[in-house]
Amino acid sequence: MTSNTAQKQSVLSSKEAIERESHFVAANYKPLPVLLNRAEGVYAWDLEGNKYLDMMSAYSAVSCGHSHPRIIKVLTEQAKTLAMTSRAYHSNTLGPFMEKLCRVAEMDLALPMNTGAEAVETAIKAARQWGYMVKKIPDNKAEIIVANGNFHGRTTTIIGFSSEADYRKNFGPFTPGFVSVPFDDIKAIEAAITPNTCAVMFEPIQGEAGIKVPHDGFLSQMRKLCTEKNVLMVMDEVQSGLGRTGKMFAWQHENAKPDLLILGKALGGGVLPVSAVVGTKEVMGLFVPGSHGSTFGGNPLACAVGLEALNVLIEENMVENSAKLGAYMLEQMKGINSPLIREVRGKGLWIGVDFEPGKVSARTVCERMMARGILSKETHETVVRFAPPLIISKEQIDWALGQFREVLREIEAG
Ligand SMILES: *Cc1c(COP(=O)(O)O)cnc(C)c1O
Repeated sequence: MTSNTAQKQSVLSSKEAIERESHFVAANYKPLPVLLNRAEGVYAWDLEGNKYLDMMSAYSAVSCGHSHPRIIKVLTEQAKTLAMTSRAYHSNTLGPFMEKLCRVAEMDLALPMNTGAEAVETAIKAARQWGYMVKKIPDNKAEIIVANGNFHGRTTTIIGFSSEADYRKNFGPFTPGFVSVPFDDIKAIEAAITPNTCAVMFEPIQGEAGIKVPHDGFLSQMRKLCTEKNVLMVMDEVQSGLGRTGKMFAWQHENAKPDLLILGKALGGGVLPVSAVVGTKEVMGLFVPGSHGSTFGGNPLACAVGLEALNVLIEENMVENSAKLGAYMLEQMKGINSPLIREVRGKGLWIGVDFEPGKVSARTVCERMMARGILSKETHETVVRFAPPLIISKEQIDWALGQFREVLREIEAG
């Protein structure tokens, strides 16, 4: 049905385009062998016109669905009016976007960035600055506690405290000042806190590690511990935030509001890179002119889109849909009786199926699902994730579950 538009848009066949890509693009990814050409809502189409249900949502960047009409309208109107100013001048889009974000996150001050990694870097600077100025940690001694298995992005500072060998290899030397402890282990965190600890930074659910959900009570225990020890709680909700787990923010599951909250991905409405750090006045109020910046951060186009992404998430009840259908999908997934599956984990529309190592690779499962019209992507060797746009319907989930069960049966039969 889309082959006409496809031909108009591109003179390259899928095969040619993929070859061109591998010839000229540094090979830092290993995509599934499909060339997407168009997308709308929860669906995407390849160049040949095959239709796919998106169970990946670009790592949650497309939580509002592909090309949401309201977001596209704001995007195009703002692009025609004023797209880029730099922060050398004011615009009438930054204030309203940051106000909305602060109100939704129940925070005082925000700082806009572009990518998730930049927002994480911003939070690291904010936490260290608080450590020196308020907690009076001696110069250059501030420590931040992080969790094994973390994923916070790809800058040299961030990969320095990753526990993934692939992320670090040949990229040192690394930034000092980070201490890594086991995830979901409140005792280990407590033991790692010293008088020089300015923050504990972690994902409330570890996404790239394989959708690892901590035990109930972990977030509230963390909140209590951080308050007692005068340490900032910094939560990276770049992937878990904005409805993915069935609450606007994952911290709301346990009323464990952090001091700094890092957002990205879905904040860009599925069309632009938009990220931000939101936090308390005590921490975010320490920034002064010259202490931090970004040429593109807070540009009018990004702000208009970010604001509309928040509006759409709220007004179209996407968070409620994530809670309701996420619970349904998790229950269905857990009910699948297959010797291939080791564990099913998740919260909201964010589910990881962990396969028995040696029995089948997650990559194979993703390839088989793709052949049946479902897009996902493995993380590590054993986990397949299901993270559709939050606008998905029960019927669409049921269809995907049916296809997934068929794939498992196929593989079980050999
Ligand atoms: C994706 C992600 C990041 C990094 O975001 P980029 O936009 O790729 O820089 C940071 N933290 C978490 C939890 C993420 O999932």
